[in-house]
Amino acid sequence: MKTIIEPFRIKSVEPLRHTTREQRDALIKNAGYNLFKLQAKDVLIDLLTDSGTSAMSTGQWAAMMRGDESYAGSASFFRMKQVVQDLMGFRHVIPTHQGRAAERILFSVMCRPGQVVPNNTHFDTTRANIEFAGARAVDLPIPAAADTQAQLPFKGDMDVAALERLIAQEGAQRIPLVMMTVTNNSGGGQPVSMRNLEAVREVASRHGIPFYLDACRFAENAWLIGEREPEYRGWPPREIARKMFALADGCTFSAKKDAFANIGGMLCTNDDRLAAQETNLLILTEGFPTYGGLAGRDLEAIAVGLEEVLDPDYLRYRIVSTAYLGRHIAQGGVPIVEPPGGHAVYIDAARMLPHIARSRFPGQALAVELYRHAGIRSVEIGSVMFGAAARHELLRLAIPRRVYTQSHIDYVVEAILEVNAARDRIRGMRIVEEPPFLRHFSASFDWID
Ligand SMILES: *Cc1c(COP(=O)(O)O)cnc(C)c1O
Repeated sequence: MKTIIEPFRIKSVEPLRHTTREQRDALIKNAGYNLFKLQAKDVLIDLLTDSGTSAMSTGQWAAMMRGDESYAGSASFFRMKQVVQDLMGFRHVIPTHQGRAAERILFSVMCRPGQVVPNNTHFDTTRANIEFAGARAVDLPIPAAADTQAQLPFKGDMDVAALERLIAQEGAQRIPLVMMTVTNNSGGGQPVSMRNLEAVREVASRHGIPFYLDACRFAENAWLIGEREPEYRGWPPREIARKMFALADGCTFSAKKDAFANIGGMLCTNDDRLAAQETNLLILTEGFPTYGGLAGRDLEAIAVGLEEVLDPDYLRYRIVSTAYLGRHIAQGGVPIVEPPGGHAVYIDAARMLPHIARSRFPGQALAVELYRHAGIRSVEIGSVMFGAAARHELLRLAIPRRVYTQSHIDYVVEAILEVNAARDRIRGMRIVEEPPFLRHFSASFDWID
């Protein structure tokens, strides 16, 4: 059989609510044209993020019932730690309430003001936490990633020569760690090859710099390595993932992505001295080391999710269904970041709306228009999110895991093609009000006449 189906059936459903165009016009205006400020009930198809929005399995819900809510020494923690260590192999597993808490702790312990942290592309919270620690976050994507239309298998890779230059320029002692984000979320959800991970690890080791993974989407990355890197064809995703983790000295992880959990994260390291300092900070802001800001039941959901995500049937469906959306809108003439990524499809808004200057936020304008037209929520990944550091003006359509069916996606395709047909009428936007950090979450916008 050629048809690839959703590898699950639905046991519990959540109704969707339709709104009219007039209602949506008023709702988005009241939200300051910021989709983060909409109420979720006013959204029909929510592609804002794949973070914490997964549908949990019967296995996860069942495991949650045996969550051990003991303050200290919870059995749920030890179950999760076992699963994490079998997969990732790190000596210390520090649970946090989500990925950014792990980042905050990691960078407060490892970074001094004036230092530099390279990454293939920093995620927004990663960049913000590095800058908050007084260090500088530097993106080193491969030059080919600048062309959103280039069809390359591993556009998430880091530019290894640029890393060498940065180390030569700054001096290794000013680089407390090298990070690699798998998959490269802000770089279009593109995977990183094993060969590139090995090359970066080699450079970091040669200079005595620790190497960390931002591992949020390790399973999607592992699957894409298996599909696209000839040496790994036919390898089980778990073995590929193990090999990725074996290259690193530690990782940050948001369980809201590839662990199918609605909340949770962790910080892992092989360094005993760092782990002790990190645990002290954990107690200060997250909680005791055997729960770290989570309930015992959350730890159970993560443990089960980390096993389920490596099921080849799931990963095949996941990657194929994301590509389905990408292929259908691209065939209809919408410029997307090629090839479609693991967890999301990114529209190149600057290319789709060439009449809107980058300073007038084409990605934000498109996000607002797609909501007004069809009640679909997406997110700008461009100058609103990253300011001057933005490399592209993208609109991200993130696909929650195991949540929407093919007919939902067909509706999204139709809506995007209709918006594209009337794209000449979309106007640019300006910022009316913004906070000092992570402005995309709360800024207000208005149309430019
Ligand atoms: C989501 C994400 C984070 C932060 O995790 P949260 O759980 O949202 O705090 C960090 N890095 C990447 C690549 C992410 O996608």
